[in-house]
Amino acid sequence: MRAAISLPTALFALCFASAQAQETPRWSLAIHGGAGVIERSSLTPEQDAAYRAALQGALDAGSAVLTSGGSALDAVQAAVQLMEDDPLFNAGRGAVFTAAGRNELDAAVMNGADLTAGSVAGLTTTRHPVAAARAVMEKSPHVMLMGPGADAFAASVGLEQVDPAFFFTERRWQGLVKALTEAGQPIPERPAGAPSPHNQGAEIAPPLNEKKFGTVGAVALDSQGRLAAATSTGGMTAKRWGRVGDVPVIGAGTYASNADGCAVSATGDGEYFIRATVARDICARIGAATPPQTAAQVEIDEARTLGGLGGVIVMTPAGAPVFALSTSGMYRGSVSASEPARVAIYADED
Ligand code: ASP
Repeated sequence: MRAAISLPTALFALCFASAQAQETPRWSLAIHGGAGVIERSSLTPEQDAAYRAALQGALDAGSAVLTSGGSALDAVQAAVQLMEDDPLFNAGRGAVFTAAGRNELDAAVMNGADLTAGSVAGLTTTRHPVAAARAVMEKSPHVMLMGPGADAFAASVGLEQVDPAFFFTERRWQGLVKALTEAGQPIPERPAGAPSPHNQGAEIAPPLNEKKFGTVGAVALDSQGRLAAATSTGGMTAKRWGRVGDVPVIGAGTYASNADGCAVSATGDGEYFIRATVARDICARIGAATPPQTAAQVEIDEARTLGGLGGVIVMTPAGAPVFALSTSGMYRGSVSASEPARVAIYADED
């Protein structure tokens, strides 16, 4: 008798629960702030706390967009822009220097819903490179712009332009001096407009011998089921000859496809991520029914076999973020409509 009553009740409960689940906006966001040799011993408690707070801020910026029904594209841009402005990360302000003593910035964005994409390489005056990449995607007939032309395009669509010294940080400058000294290469003049080394507040920065990357990225699923990815970087310390890494190469460091069911942002040794076409291959594997965690790990392993280390974040249509890395740490975080925000740094953190 009890069973006869409980069956329809249970069915009702099931239907009710599934109607509720459908009504719940199912958005999700994951971010990274670079992968590399990041061990507990290499960060002071203050540095560790500063990175976690910065990651939390980026999650807050992205989730504010998604909770109010905004698009995955707007969310990844908001999260990345915040990290571009944060000198802790190698993107926008705080980017690494080229061997010539300049900050040359790369970024990309991709909309998984329609496979539109935009990217920029070698920007020197546009405050938010990810916004420039988005403008290339939406306001130009092209996918990839580089150098002064890309900055001019960004200015022409109203994006904020800054003096190149805006991107300067003492920590990255000293990192360049150290790298060039070790390589026996000449040290360029300190950039015009850079603040005096004796006149700066204490910077929260890891020791200069820390080998980590610091690129930033975000992947998101919005309440309409759209996937998007964005990545932004200063590239590699002491890069030369107009070097461009994987970040603005669509399919290498950045890719998104609703058809395949993925959005990917990578960080690591760009040359190897380009050769392994990491982001596109992860999506192709997921599209062919490989579990996302496996797809991500296989590609990270492939890049490592070629000689490159790093990590990826992947978002799926189920809103379950995936992280894979071949380094001892990756600044990262996630939040969704049903999960509270979490940030992590070291590889062994959940
Ligand atoms: N992937 C970037 C590049 O090669 C660097 C990084 O991720 O830190 O330009």
